Amino acid sequence: MAGGSQDRSLREELTCAICCELFSEPVMLDCMHHFCKACIQGYWESCTHVPSCPQCRREFPSRAFRTHYLLSGLVEKVRRCGSAEHRHKMQKHLEDALQARQKEMENFLQRKCAMQEDICGLTKVSGELNFKIRAEFGRLHQILEEEERAVLAELGEKEEQSLARLHGDVHRLEEGMSVLQRDIERIEQTLSKMEEVSLLEVESLDIRPSVRVETQPAFNLEHYRDSRSGPLQYIFWRQMLQFICPAPAPLTFDPESAHPNLVFSRDLTAVTERNRAQPVPTSPRRFRQCVNVLGSQSFDSGQHYWEVWVGSKTKWDLGVAAETVDRGAKVKLCPENGYWTLRLRNRTEYWATTTPWVRLTPRQPPRKVGVFLDCQEGTVAFFDAGDMSHLFTFHQVSAERYCPFFSTCFSDGRDNIEPMRLCHLAL
Ligand SMILES: [Zn+2]
Ligand SMILES: [Zn+2]
Repeated sequence: MAGGSQDRSLREELTCAICCELFSEPVMLDCMHHFCKACIQGYWESCTHVPSCPQCRREFPSRAFRTHYLLSGLVEKVRRCGSAEHRHKMQKHLEDALQARQKEMENFLQRKCAMQEDICGLTKVSGELNFKIRAEFGRLHQILEEEERAVLAELGEKEEQSLARLHGDVHRLEEGMSVLQRDIERIEQTLSKMEEVSLLEVESLDIRPSVRVETQPAFNLEHYRDSRSGPLQYIFWRQMLQFICPAPAPLTFDPESAHPNLVFSRDLTAVTERNRAQPVPTSPRRFRQCVNVLGSQSFDSGQHYWEVWVGSKTKWDLGVAAETVDRGAKVKLCPENGYWTLRLRNRTEYWATTTPWVRLTPRQPPRKVGVFLDCQEGTVAFFDAGDMSHLFTFHQVSAERYCPFFSTCFSDGRDNIEPMRLCHLAL
C-alpha cells in the first residue's frame, strides 16, 4: 500500500547509519549528515585520527555537531506511530468513524424512504384530487348545460306560442279579407248595373254588415326581446346556485340550547352576549356554564356547509359539536370532548382547538367563516368565506349526530359585543 511504503521510506530517512535504529537525540554534522548523538560520539571515540563523517568520510577540525530539535520531534512522532498503543488508538478512532458513518447512512436511507413514500403519496393524492375536481366540474358543466337547454326550451316555447298566435291572427284576417273581397265584388257588380235595374231590385240586394275580425293586441317585439336580455350570466348563475350541493345552508340558532346570557334577533340569525342571565326555561339541552349555542339543524349524514359572520369581534369559538356534548359542565373545547372548533383570542390569535392547539396564520383576519362538515369522510373544514381560502381541517371526526356550534364569548363591556350572525345566501 502507498501509505505503508511511504512510512517505510520515512523510517529509513530517520534511521541512523551507525546503529540502524531510529535516531535517538539526532545531531547534524557540518556535512549535513545525521546520527544519534551517542553513536557519533562513540564512533569518534573509537577513531584515533581526526574526526570524520562515517557516511561521506569528510574530515572535521573538531568534534562539533548541532542538535537537531526539529528532527528529534519528527523521530518521536514516527516512533509513537509505530507503537502498539498508537495503532490501537488509531483503530478505535477509525472504527468509531466507520460506525458513525454507518449510522448516518442508515439515517439517510430512512429519510430517503420517507421521501419516496411522500412522492408516492403526493402522486396518489394528486390523482385523487384531479379526479374529484374533474367530477365536480363535470357536475357544474352538466348543471350549466341543463340550465342552457331549459332556458332555450322556454324561449322556443314562447316563440312557438307567439308565432301560433300571430299566424292565427294572419289566418283570420285572410279569411275576413276573402269575405270582404266577395262583398266588394257583389257591390261593384250591382253598382255597374245601377242604370239597368229597377229600384226594387236594388233595395232587395242584401247588403250585409261588414265582416269583423278579432285579433290579439299588437305584439310587443321590444318587450319580447327585453324580457330575455339583461345581465344574463348573473341571471343564469343565480338559477344554477339552487342546484349546487352543498350550498350555504340557511341555519338558525336554537335558543333552547343557548346559555341564559345570550340574546337573539327575532329571526334567530344573530346572537350576542348580555353580561347577565335572561329568564329562560330550564332545559337539559341548555349550555349552563359557557356562553354557547347550537344551530337548530343537526346532521347525521351528507355534506353540509354554512357561513358565520364574525365581523370585528375580538374573540369567538365556532365549528361543530357532537349532539351528546355535556352541556351542564365547563369543558375544554377539543375533539376528545366532541368539539371541532376554530377560535379567536386577543383580537388576532387564531387557533384550531386540536390537542394541543394549532396556531393559524390566515392571510387576512376572516370576517366571515365557512364551516364544511362531511359526515361520510369524518372531516370538519374551515374557510375564510371572503375568498374561500382554506384555514384548517379536522380529520377522524366521529359522532352519531353533529350540531353547528357557536360561542360569542363574553362581551367584555362593549369590546366584543358585536353579534355573531348566520349568513343566508339570498337566491
Ligand atoms: Zn545511532
Ligand atoms: Zn557526511
